[in-house]
Amino acid sequence: MLNVAKFGGTSVADYDAMVRCANIIKSQPETKLVAVSASSGVTNHLVTLSQQILSVEEQTQIIEQIRKIQYNITQHLTVETELNLIIDQVLTSLIELTTQQNTLQTAKTADAILACGEQMSSQIFAQVLKTVGLNCLCFDVRNVMKTNSLYGKAVVDIEQLASNCASQLSPLLQEHVVVTQGFIGRDGLDNTTTLGRGGSDYSAALLAEAVNATGLSIWTDVVGIFTTDPRIASSARAIPEISFGEAAEMATFGAKILHPATLIPAMRSDIPVFVGSSREPEAGGTQIRQEVASKPTYRSIAIRKEQTLVTVKSPAMLHASGFLVQVFSILAKHELSVDLITTSEISVALTFDNPTGSTQALITQAVVEELEQLCEVTVEHGLSLVAVVGNNLHASIGLGSDIFDNISDVHIRMICHGASANNLCFLVNEKDGNKVVETLHDKLFV
Ligand code: ASP
Ligand code: MG
Repeated sequence: MLNVAKFGGTSVADYDAMVRCANIIKSQPETKLVAVSASSGVTNHLVTLSQQILSVEEQTQIIEQIRKIQYNITQHLTVETELNLIIDQVLTSLIELTTQQNTLQTAKTADAILACGEQMSSQIFAQVLKTVGLNCLCFDVRNVMKTNSLYGKAVVDIEQLASNCASQLSPLLQEHVVVTQGFIGRDGLDNTTTLGRGGSDYSAALLAEAVNATGLSIWTDVVGIFTTDPRIASSARAIPEISFGEAAEMATFGAKILHPATLIPAMRSDIPVFVGSSREPEAGGTQIRQEVASKPTYRSIAIRKEQTLVTVKSPAMLHASGFLVQVFSILAKHELSVDLITTSEISVALTFDNPTGSTQALITQAVVEELEQLCEVTVEHGLSLVAVVGNNLHASIGLGSDIFDNISDVHIRMICHGASANNLCFLVNEKDGNKVVETLHDKLFV
């Protein structure tokens, strides 16, 4: 039995939170590898340092806030002085990096800046684990997590990770609880990279796969995956058990609890995933696994806002072949990932996730112009994607009355159904999104 645990930012936000997590690890002798996020708030500060041109005073102010978050934890430890030295070293390198970034603004430097949070939290957390009597050491994940050089959303070399873990990390797990960093890696040029915001869940899943773990626990600040966002529908409740397929749909279509890529390694290597709250470990959580005892038609509802719908139309598509290939090769060239798609004889509608402030490539004028060489293009914004997640939806009877009859006063812009057994998705105007989720949740789950 070998379990990998991941603790998110709120779980390592302060000393008390860290002690709660340490006690969870102590109570589970099979948990040998632990990946942590940066302490809550730190990554956001680092994002500001990496993205904005700041005066020296502003920079100093932010760096002092980061120092305070970390010192507030170390002051409770006997090794305070040693740990503060480590934190100061990281922050000194951060000052240099921030100065560089102010003049050059490179994605490479931004990643080196963002990685500072996990470097500090992991060192501190390893010391907290020692205080509860665990034989613990801190391991630099960049020695094993090799990535390409796509700074900001680096892609991990899975095979190299596996062989590096076998030689460098797994032997340490025999005798120690090893604490390491989520979210960060290193490329072939020896530069630090990051896997994208919220990427620690994914790091932990990759590590679990690489060390042949029998379980992965994601500890966060909610007691599992809910039937929908409780801020939208107060009757939302935690789901005790859910299949990989369903959970993956939920993570992809807006449930904020897991990074959407997390379940890929877990599914691939059949590693059950537990999601729970480190604040209330006794409250249980959600088990995500291949096979589940109950497979209800309706499991949950997710919503993703700020969606863009692109409709392309061309009479040339009539009885022609190869049109879609051309459309998709333009999208691929611009690294755009399509979520939903519907087609008619001469037109295709496609949706894209388009969140404000996202660094990913969006539907730019260049994309539109290129598509226009081929066909007529219409772009619509301000839409929300609602995903009803469950089982056997493609074969179920009565979805129309269960779902659409209950929201008959709402304008449905697009419907996608049939490709997946686990979801039925549709687009509504953003102003209707929350109401639709609330209404459907009350009809389907209460
Ligand atoms: N610290 C990083 C972030 O806030 C990674 C993570 O927590 O998953 O995005
Ligand atoms: Mg997270």
